[in-house]
Amino acid sequence: MFTIKEATNKPIIGITGNYEKKTKRYSIGSQYIKAIQVSGGIPFLLTPFDEIPLFIDGIVFSGGDDIDPLLFGEEPYANMHSTNIDPSRDAFELSLCRYAFSKKLPILGICRGMQLLNVADDGKLFQDIYSQNENLLEHRQQVMNSHKIHKVTCTENSHLFSIFGETTFLVNSLHHQGVSSLGKNMIATAKSSDGIIEAIEHKTLPFVLGVQWHPEWLTDHFILFSTLIQRCETNGGKKKS
Ligand code: MN
Repeated sequence: MFTIKEATNKPIIGITGNYEKKTKRYSIGSQYIKAIQVSGGIPFLLTPFDEIPLFIDGIVFSGGDDIDPLLFGEEPYANMHSTNIDPSRDAFELSLCRYAFSKKLPILGICRGMQLLNVADDGKLFQDIYSQNENLLEHRQQVMNSHKIHKVTCTENSHLFSIFGETTFLVNSLHHQGVSSLGKNMIATAKSSDGIIEAIEHKTLPFVLGVQWHPEWLTDHFILFSTLIQRCETNGGKKKS
């Protein structure tokens, strides 16, 4: 008998799953699994009602349905193009996120996952960016997910700039919500030209990065996953010499 930690030298990356009511299945897109695997991590699906597994080295908060607006202090407005909400997933991810903050675990938040990081840090969201802002770009692309449709510009003093080495680059875009006011420990490190926040980072924790786009569909953005995994290796000292 050996424990999961003893079975591998690779960092174990918890990834939050989505519950589909219709099929009664927890699932995660295979592109997330591939991105973690090819970047050197072991993906481990996290589902609501689990205890938080203490052996995970880092976390990917995945995309999915809207976060319940009550969790950032708002009642749902009408006609906000809202998706289904999953109270179990929301509650589990918020407690998981606060646990990860307390343990300084490296975190990558993607789309809803970025929004979740912000709400866990007492920030707020636009329930629907189109109803609450004017003159926006297209952020809900109809072309295939692997196509990049709009630019983002990042600040130079950011993880993003260290990772990509340039301030402006193209991303895909599959969201109708966004960060409206930042959590108390978060800074916006990338925006699109219409002012929508496209990335947030924690001011003091070593590696907490949220991106509004979907790097799991962009093989040249897998560097976000490999950076997360490298940060897990240096954090937990898992690498054997
Ligand atoms: Mn966008």
